[in-house]
Formats: sequence, structure tokens, C-alpha cells
Amino acid sequence: MQQFSYVIRRADDVAVCIEKFRANAPEKYTSLLITVFTTSVEPAPILALTQRLGDAFPQAVIAGCMTTDVIRNGGVNVNASVVSFSVFRTSTVQLEIFSNPETLAEDGKAFYRRAKRVKNLAAVGIIGTLHALDLQPFLNNLSALDENIVIFGGGANTTKNAPACVFTKGQMLEEGFLAITYAGPELHVHASRNFGWKPLGREFVITKMTGNHIVEEIDHQPAVRIYENYLGILPGKNFDRDTLAFPVFVRRGNSYIARHTVGCRPDGSLLFIADMHEGETLRLAYGDPREMIGDAQAGCTDMAAFRPEGIFLLSCFAHRMFLRGDVKLELAPVRNIAPSYGFYTYGEIFRFARSVGIHNMLLLNIGFREGEKPSAPLPVKNDTSTRLKDSLLLVERLVRFVSATTAELESANKELNRMARTDRLTQIANRGETEAILQEAVTIAAAKGAEPLSVLMLDIDDFKKVNDIYGHDVGDQVLTETAQVLRSQLRLGDTVGRWGGEEFLIILPKATEKDAAHVAERIRKAIANVHALPHDRSFTASFGVARVAPGETFDEFYRRVDSALYDAKNSGKNCVRVAPMKKA
Ligand code: GH3
Ligand code: MG
Ligand code: MG
Repeated sequence: MQQFSYVIRRADDVAVCIEKFRANAPEKYTSLLITVFTTSVEPAPILALTQRLGDAFPQAVIAGCMTTDVIRNGGVNVNASVVSFSVFRTSTVQLEIFSNPETLAEDGKAFYRRAKRVKNLAAVGIIGTLHALDLQPFLNNLSALDENIVIFGGGANTTKNAPACVFTKGQMLEEGFLAITYAGPELHVHASRNFGWKPLGREFVITKMTGNHIVEEIDHQPAVRIYENYLGILPGKNFDRDTLAFPVFVRRGNSYIARHTVGCRPDGSLLFIADMHEGETLRLAYGDPREMIGDAQAGCTDMAAFRPEGIFLLSCFAHRMFLRGDVKLELAPVRNIAPSYGFYTYGEIFRFARSVGIHNMLLLNIGFREGEKPSAPLPVKNDTSTRLKDSLLLVERLVRFVSATTAELESANKELNRMARTDRLTQIANRGETEAILQEAVTIAAAKGAEPLSVLMLDIDDFKKVNDIYGHDVGDQVLTETAQVLRSQLRLGDTVGRWGGEEFLIILPKATEKDAAHVAERIRKAIANVHALPHDRSFTASFGVARVAPGETFDEFYRRVDSALYDAKNSGKNCVRVAPMKKA
């Protein structure tokens, strides 16, 4: 495979570029892919350009889209077009055009079936009008393709006041997409993905959504509040631009994926092009320039090892907006590897954990090679200086400050939360926490067909005397040791809490009253063996046990446990009494 690309600024440049390519092109090849990425939004000259290229190379596949900036050999070109020729020696490139938004799911199914039959399919590339069309129903079908098949793509994009289109020879689509299949017995394709955004501040929860693209509420507030309150970004003309440096991270499994809002609606809801779901956790994120550039360099080391003959590069527009002039530091490392070209995209199509979807904030490098790797190693020169602008370093420091403060607050919050639920003396659940857990457990256990659940309540015998005779400190010691015994006697899933002064409560899921009585008896003996009092003296406790009956309310149940304990006290203390089952 060979790749040649040319920057075109004026109409006359086309002839020059065709000539140059002819001079360089190999004599024989199986496929020629010509791509055009352009910052122009005027359909007529673009169509004229594709027509010219088509006339010059009738067999070529021609595809392209509008973009904000074009990328070529590690640099950015503004107000220009980049025409690239990818010449395949033994591989086949084929183009399909989709323009019916009504039939995306069916089209996807049919495309999948055709793709399955393509021999040696190595990659599928997609360019679409992602702002005008939700491609997800189409992409869902591609997730089932073999995982070795690289699937990549991006969306047409413009900052000018015009629709961002995709196009092919003689055809311009305001709504639609192009799918290109790359297949060949010797074709190898390798993708690397760079990121560079980091979470900022605390976690939020998406509490209300409409569909998968409109986030109505975050933490029960209009979604836009996270931008207003934390970043001072207000809805208005520049909202999309201003939020670009601060995407949101959505937690999926153990990692975060980025989402960029593409608009704020009058009711304060936020619009996204990639899917999100109610109940998902999100955080604000920010671009870390050093990480972005470091990531790009690491990605290039990986790409260098693949030894591509040509690289196609898709970068989220946010990287360009965020890094501004420093974006060249991010793009430059590919220069040492192979010829490259690409564009700034609106939405990146990529496979993440098997499923193919639309992502944001990524920089994708797609390397192509026909045949085996050359044996001579490629010298990787890290000649890119990573000196960032001072203003970015300041941002980096401030962000670090915010992150460190957030981490401290989060851990302080966790501790406060724990303290609010814990009894200070015994360090087990306090009354409030125990009661909340008990309420819920009883409600669940009282439902029809539920698993058994029993509770035991214990009260230390003659505890007043302990205090009176030995003092309050010894009394406290007895309570602490009792809590320790209770904890040591329980299984995972059981709850032990301090109910009142010298009263404790234990919730035993999946236990019948008989099981619970056994546990109570075991604990009774264990307590009697603790010699927490002076002169090696011991103390005892009395136990009431009850199992939740079907249909029983919390109050009814509580009365039964309490009266079982009362029975135990009346029966001479230091014993276990089981409450008779309430009739259903
Ligand atoms: P019974 O065998 O009938 O349960 O009698 P009792 O003396 O254990 O029960 P009573 O309810 O009369 O007394 C409980 C005592 O527990 C009274 C109270 O001062 C004491 N107490 C409550 N909380 C604490 C505490 O945190 N530390 C100490 N040392 N004593 C406490
Ligand atoms: Mg007592
Ligand atoms: Mg008591």
C-alpha cells in the first residue's frame, strides 16, 4: 500500500496534484481510494473537484466530508482541502452510500450480512453526518463482526453556518453516510486510540433522560446546572464551544467514556450525540494537555511497532479547540512513522469493549499495511518538544488543586457518612442505621413468597448494677466487649446494631426462628464466657427472637420481638425466648 496526499487551496492546485500523483503512482494496483477532506462548505466547487478526480481516475473510490481543519503529515491546515490517494497493491476497497434515515437498522443488518461474506475483510471505515443522523441503529449491527476487523469513522463537521456534508463523486449528502470496506489477503490494519481527558470534581448521577440523547436532569437539577454552577458556562451562542474543553465522563463498567454536549435546550436539558442512560454516574472532565500529548506519543510508539505504510487520522475537534497551537505537538509524532492524513471530526466511531458506537474526545490513528512488516527497525525519534504554553501549565496546576481538594472532600464525606451511621462507643451500626436496615428487611421479608428473615434482640442483664458497682467506665467496657462478641459470631450479610443503652439487635437474613434461636443460644453462651468485670467476673444477657410473618407490618413485628425479650427477662434472665409466629 502506498499513500500520497496533497493540500489544495485553489482550483488550479487540483491539476498539479493529479499530475504529482501520476508521477508517483505505481504502474499496477488493485484499488485506489481517493479521499477529500475540505474546510469549504460550498457544494458546487467540492462536487467539481470530485468530478475532476473521478474523470482522471475512473476506477477510484472517492469519498470525503467537510471539516473544520484538515490534517496532513503531522500538521494542521486551515482553509484548505487535503486530497489523499491510497493505492492498494493486492487489496480491494469498496464504497457503499446510505442516505435513508428511515432504514438505518435494516441497512445495518444487510450491510453486516454482506460484510460477513467479504473475504479477508480487514476494516470498515465510515464517514457520516453525525450531527444530523443517529447512526447507532446501523452501527449496532457491526458489533457482531469479528473483533479483528477494525471499525473506525467520524462525522462531517464545520463551524461555518452551513450543513456539514459527506460526499462522493457527484453526490453531496446533508444527511447520510459512506461505508468503505477494506479487504485483502495481505492487508493489515491497526488502530490506536488516544484520549487525554481526565475527571474533574465529584460524581453526579443522571436522574432523568428523554431517549438516549437528551439528559434532562443531573442530581435532580436541570442538567445545564453542572456547567453553570461549577464552570460558569451559561447557555447561549458559544455554549458548545465553551463546553468543549469540559466534556462529561460517563462511567461504564470500570472505565469512563467521554461525552460532549452539543447543545442546551431552553428547559436546561443537555443534548448529546452519543448515548447516555438514566442512573449512570458522570463527572465533569477537563483536557490535560500533557496527558494528551503524552498519550499521542505512546500511541505512536505502538503504531510504529505495527509499521504502517499509511496512516489515517481522525481527531475529535475538541483536541484542536483545546490545544490550539500546541495541537502540532500532539500530531507531530506520526511524522516519523508513515505518511498520514485526516480531519477533525464530530463524533468518533470506534469499537469499545466489543460494541461499535459513537464516541467523543478521541484521537484515532488507523494504520494500513499490505504484506509483512519490513525487517529493518524504524528509528523512533521523539523529536517533538513538549513545551507547553505557560497558560496551559497554569490550568494544569489549578486542575490539580481542584482534584486534590475534591479527593480530600470525598474522603471526608465518606468518613462523615460512616460516622453518622456508626455508634461511637461500640463502632457498630447505631440506632438510626439499624432501624433503617430493619425497616427495609422486614418489608421485603413480609412480602409473599419471600425468604425467611429473623431478628434477635438482646438486653444485658442487671446492667444498672454494673454501672453502680464498678462505675460507668466498666459499664462502657462491657458494652464494647458485647459488641465485639456479636460481631465475631455473625455471618456475612447479617447486621448487628446498637438499639439503645444496653440493647442490641441482630438481623439474620435467610434464617428461620429456629436458626435464629440457635444463634442466640450460641451468643448467650459466648457472652457468659466474657470476663469483662473486675475480679474476672462475667455478665449475662437475655434474648428475644422472632421471625417475620407474611404480611406483617414493621410495628407488629417489633412488638413481637420486644415481647419475646420481655418473656426472657421474666423467665429469670440469661435465656432465649422465641416469639410465637403471628397467624397470617
Ligand atoms: P435488666 O436486667 O432488666 O435489663 O436491668 P438493667 O439494669 O440492665 O436495665 P435498666 O434499663 O434498668 O438499666 C440500663 C442501664 O444502662 C441504665 C443506663 O444508665 C445504662 N446505660 C445506658 N447507656 C449506657 C452507656 O452508654 N454506658 C454505660 N456505662 N451505661 C449505659
Ligand atoms: Mg438490661
Ligand atoms: Mg434495657
